[in-house]
Amino acid sequence: MIKSYEQSKQAFTEAKELMPGGVNSPVRAFKSVDMDPIFMESGKGAIIKDIDGNEYIDYVLSWGPLILGHTEPNVVKAIQQVAETGTSFGASTLIENKLAKLVMDRVPSIEMVRMVSSGTEATMSALRLARGFTGRNKILKFEGSYHGHGDSLLIKAGSGVATLGLPDSPGVPESVAKNTIAVPFNDLESVRHVFENFGDDLAAVIVEPVAGNMGVVPPVEGFLEGLRELTEKNGTVLIFDEVMTGFRVGYNCAQGYYGITPDLTCLGKVIGGGLPVGAFGGKREIMEMIAPAGPVYQAGTLSGNPLAMTAGYETLTRLNEQTYDYFIELGDILEKGFREAATKYNIPHTVNRAGSMIGFFLTNEDVVNFDTAKTSDLELFAKYFRLMAEEGIYLPPSQFEGLFLSSAHTVEHIEKTIQAFHTVFEKLSMN
Ligand code: PMP
Repeated sequence: MIKSYEQSKQAFTEAKELMPGGVNSPVRAFKSVDMDPIFMESGKGAIIKDIDGNEYIDYVLSWGPLILGHTEPNVVKAIQQVAETGTSFGASTLIENKLAKLVMDRVPSIEMVRMVSSGTEATMSALRLARGFTGRNKILKFEGSYHGHGDSLLIKAGSGVATLGLPDSPGVPESVAKNTIAVPFNDLESVRHVFENFGDDLAAVIVEPVAGNMGVVPPVEGFLEGLRELTEKNGTVLIFDEVMTGFRVGYNCAQGYYGITPDLTCLGKVIGGGLPVGAFGGKREIMEMIAPAGPVYQAGTLSGNPLAMTAGYETLTRLNEQTYDYFIELGDILEKGFREAATKYNIPHTVNRAGSMIGFFLTNEDVVNFDTAKTSDLELFAKYFRLMAEEGIYLPPSQFEGLFLSSAHTVEHIEKTIQAFHTVFEKLSMN
């Protein structure tokens, strides 16, 4: 189906001279799937087109934000209208109030919110706030979780760090790293142990309620409840990093789906509708510590940017409970088709799902944490990725990232994808 990647190859040769590794974000370099990256040109609904004219059904969706698919007409129109009235003022605008109210309405634990421009900013700021609020230093995170590239959070991280098999990043000072403790996801016993040893100085526990940066790994029963109980008892701030899961796992985010109330929540991706947005919010008592209401500093030239707020608002208002039922319906068909094809051709496989996030692992082990995610056959994954792309299916170029669905995906797209699984797994089984 793919004609050629010639234009992409040429563009990448040029890009490598211009940007480190030829990209502006590491996973885009396709290193772990051992091919040159594909340069994209346009998108419409669930379909994207590269600069060689090849078309793909897109399961990356810009790594999550495009829950309505590409160039949704209402979102595009609203962005165009705002662009004509001013792209940025660095002053207050009404659309900031509108999006803040909408987010607070959907996520009751958010009693106040601060808009920023990326997920990284949201998590970095939430951590500073938790430290400022508690007067403590240490934080607890989970191995294989990714919370953006802030110094404190680049310890045993997932996403690109895991994909590239990098150790903790050089440039993070020892003095910072020593305050981050990482334990396995879904392992409440280890968490208890940390509380027993460091509880007095534990400012925050930060968790992706469904881990999405080691592939998709839902919480086991009792895990999030246990975190809530331990943090509450110890006066530690519980931060849900819902940058990926927010408005993806459910209409009221993962916290609504699992019925757990965190102290602070970080958002990003979907709330920007494809434009650069992040946000953090939570208990009023904590949020009022943020400048200028309080002493914990946080700011941004483009924070609350009118274009980004508009794209987010238009996106969120087009989601309803039925959208999430639809994702489950599509996900059921896709999962069944994947399992059948993998079983037929004897391909190792495990499937994890949460809302519109799907994790297809090439291992037969149950995947409950980063160690079990790493039992996947990464060489096989690279071949699978390349062959699926040749069939016109664009998957995340890493075993440690999930697939995303949008409301623009149809049963027909899913069926085409299942056909591709059969073609690709047959080829893989012959090697
Ligand atoms: N937290 C989570 C859970 C994420 O998945 C990501 C990005 N994938 C981030 C934080 C960082 O967001 P950004 O890339 O917008 O800085």
